[in-house]
Amino acid sequence: MSLSEFSIIERYFSRPSHRSDVVLGVGDDAAILQVPQGMQLVASVDTLISGRHFPVDTIPEAIGYKSLAVSLSDMAAMGARPTWVTLSLSMPEANEAFINGFAKGFFSLAQQYDVELVGGDTVRGPLACTVQINGFVPTGGALLRSGAQAGDYIYVTGTPGDAGAGLMLKQGADCDNTKSAEQLVRQLEYPQPRVTEGNSLLGIASSAIDISDGLLADFKHILDNSGCAATLQLDSIPQSDHLKCCITDEVESLQLALSAGDDYELCFTVPPARVAELERISTKWECAVTRIGEIMNGTGIELIGVHADQLRDNISGFDHFWSQ
Ligand code: ADP
Ligand code: MG
Repeated sequence: MSLSEFSIIERYFSRPSHRSDVVLGVGDDAAILQVPQGMQLVASVDTLISGRHFPVDTIPEAIGYKSLAVSLSDMAAMGARPTWVTLSLSMPEANEAFINGFAKGFFSLAQQYDVELVGGDTVRGPLACTVQINGFVPTGGALLRSGAQAGDYIYVTGTPGDAGAGLMLKQGADCDNTKSAEQLVRQLEYPQPRVTEGNSLLGIASSAIDISDGLLADFKHILDNSGCAATLQLDSIPQSDHLKCCITDEVESLQLALSAGDDYELCFTVPPARVAELERISTKWECAVTRIGEIMNGTGIELIGVHADQLRDNISGFDHFWSQ
């Protein structure tokens, strides 16, 4: 992409700096960034590959949006305030319509969270985008996967399963309700990272993770890292009206809510002594928050509810983990 590479960067990815902690942004060999005193730098990187992490027919704007959203979600899960990103974009050709759409989606979200693009790489290759993100937390204050303790309550934001249903619809599943179908696909393509919510959980949550691979699969990381067990109340697992409208079988919709990925909601634990504070701060959140269970001593996840047995049989890959 050698000849046009510089004009692509100049036209689409080089924007005036808007953060005072960016000493030097796009244009030199590397960026120079200032971390404030009393803060720790939190860093993470994610790659989205066409056909694997998003359907090949996804519109460029949604690819740009989502490539940043998944990274912002990692910051949210750490309780970090996102600050700077770098972007490595691999494209088969320098298609301006694609780059324009991609940049539109990417920068709309960057602007929303005051995140600055400070560098990157632009190469010719299969369509893939890698976003490396940085953020701050007060020293020692980050939300980890390892902090859950027996007696803590388990919460989830939003309505997991929607993005998974959106993917099924994109792959040809039918839904009579066009509006619900659109909303589910929207959740797949434009997930809202829970950055504000994650930030406000500092000092309240004992552990947190974002849901990229499915509620159960990701929640299991909290249990593994914290050395705990859990009970989950299936009747409490939140499900959107759109999900229930398009996936009418109760077990199937519950299965999606528990095991489908790509929602980028937060799952976190809160000690009983902090619950009142959670209830107070979460009234300001844009999303719902639902208590779904409790952390216990031991290992494994105990599902409680009428569909527990069916779900244990249906959700493959977790057999080794269910408590007996
Ligand atoms: P180098 O060869 O030194 O790596 P490049 O030609 O790859 O430099 O990039 C020139 C400048 O443009 C660097 O500051 C780099 O960070 C930035 N850059 C390249 N691609 C992108 C991109 N997709 N988004 C943002 N900045 C980019
Ligand atoms: Mg380079």
